[in-house]
Amino acid sequence: MRHTTRVLQSLERQVVRAKSTAFIGLGRMGSEMAFNFFSKTFAESPDTHFVVCDALPASAVAFRQNFVSQFPGAHIDIVRTPKEAVLASQTVLTMLPSSPQVTTVYSEANGVISALKSLSAAELTRSLLIDSTTLDVGIARNVAAEVISAGAQMVDAPVSGGVTGAKAGTLAFLVGGTEGAFELSQPILTHMGNRIIHCGPSGAGLGAKICNNLVLGVQQIVVGEAMLLGQKLGLDPRILAGVINSSTGGCWASSVNNPVPYSLADKSPPCERNYEGGFATALMLKDMLLATDIAASTDSPLPLGKTAQQFYAETLRHRPDLAQKDFSSVYERLEQMRREN
Ligand code: NAD
Repeated sequence: MRHTTRVLQSLERQVVRAKSTAFIGLGRMGSEMAFNFFSKTFAESPDTHFVVCDALPASAVAFRQNFVSQFPGAHIDIVRTPKEAVLASQTVLTMLPSSPQVTTVYSEANGVISALKSLSAAELTRSLLIDSTTLDVGIARNVAAEVISAGAQMVDAPVSGGVTGAKAGTLAFLVGGTEGAFELSQPILTHMGNRIIHCGPSGAGLGAKICNNLVLGVQQIVVGEAMLLGQKLGLDPRILAGVINSSTGGCWASSVNNPVPYSLADKSPPCERNYEGGFATALMLKDMLLATDIAASTDSPLPLGKTAQQFYAETLRHRPDLAQKDFSSVYERLEQMRREN
C-alpha cells in the first residue's frame, strides 16, 4: 500500500515537472526573454508551471510581480538554487553573465548536474537544458558533455539582437547541439526569437556568435577611425556616411550604428542618446577576449582581432564611464586621442 502511494506520488511529480519550465538569470536579457517565453507559453497552455531563479532574489521577486500583474492566474514559483529549478522543471533555460557563472550554475553542489543525477531515467529522457549565455566554447562543451552523460539533452543557444530584440521577441538564436536536441529546443526558442539557426554540434552556436562579434568589434573601431579622419579632411559626416554606406565600406557599424551623431538621415543610433542603450562596451570587450582566447588555443591568427581587443581594453582603462554605454562609444576614445595629439 505504502509502495503504491510512493509510486503514485512519483508519477504525479513527473506529470507536474513535465508541465513546468524554468528560467535562471533574470538580468537585462533574461528578464525580457523569460517574459516573452512565459507569456506565449501561458497563452497556449494556461496550466503550465513557471519557475524562476536569480542570484539576486529581488530580481526574481520583481519579475514574478510584474508577470502576475499582467497574467493573473499564472502559476510562477521562485526557487533559490538551480538544483531546485531542475528538480521542478523538465525544460530549463539559463542566461548568465559568462563562463564563471555558468560553471557555478551547472557544476556546483546545488547546480543543474547534481539535480540531473537524482532524476529517474524517465524524467531525464525529455529533460532539456538551453544555455543562452555568451561564454567560452570549451567550458560550454564540457558542461554540455556532463549534462548529456547524466542522461539529459542540452544546446548552447547564444543570441544576437540585444535588449531591444529580447523585448520584441525578435532575437536570432545560434544553436549548437545534436539534431534531436535542436528539434526539442526550436519551438521554445521561437517564443523569444524569429531566427533559429542550427550551427552544428555542441559549441557551434557559441563559435558562430564569437566569430560574428569579432567582425563587429573590429568594424565598429574602423568605422570610428574613418569618420574621424574624414572630418579632419573637411568632409561633412552626413556626406561621408552616405558614401561609405552606398559603397564597399558599408556595414552595420556604419549604416545602423554609426558613432557620429546625425550622420544618418533616417536613423537614430545610440550616439544620439549619449551612447545609452545598445550593446555595452564591457560586453564587447568580453566577447573580443573570448575570440582572442579561442584563437590562441586553436593557433588561429587574429592580428586585427587582437589589436581591436586591446583597443577596447585600453578605452575602458582611460574611460571607465563608457563600460555600460554602447560600444560605438569607442569613438569618444578616438576623439580623446586626437585632442591629446
Ligand atoms: P546581466 O548581468 O544583466 O544578467 C545576468 C543575470 O544573471 C543577473 O540577473 C544576475 O543576477 C544573474 N546571475 C549571475 N550569477 C548567477 C547565479 N550564479 N545564479 C543565478 N543567477 C545568476 O547580463 P545580460 O546583459 O542579461 O547578458 C546575459 C548574457 O547575454 C551575457 O552572456 C551577454 O554577453 C549576452 N548578451 C547580452 C546582450 C546585451 O545587449 N545585454 C546581447 C547579446 C548577448
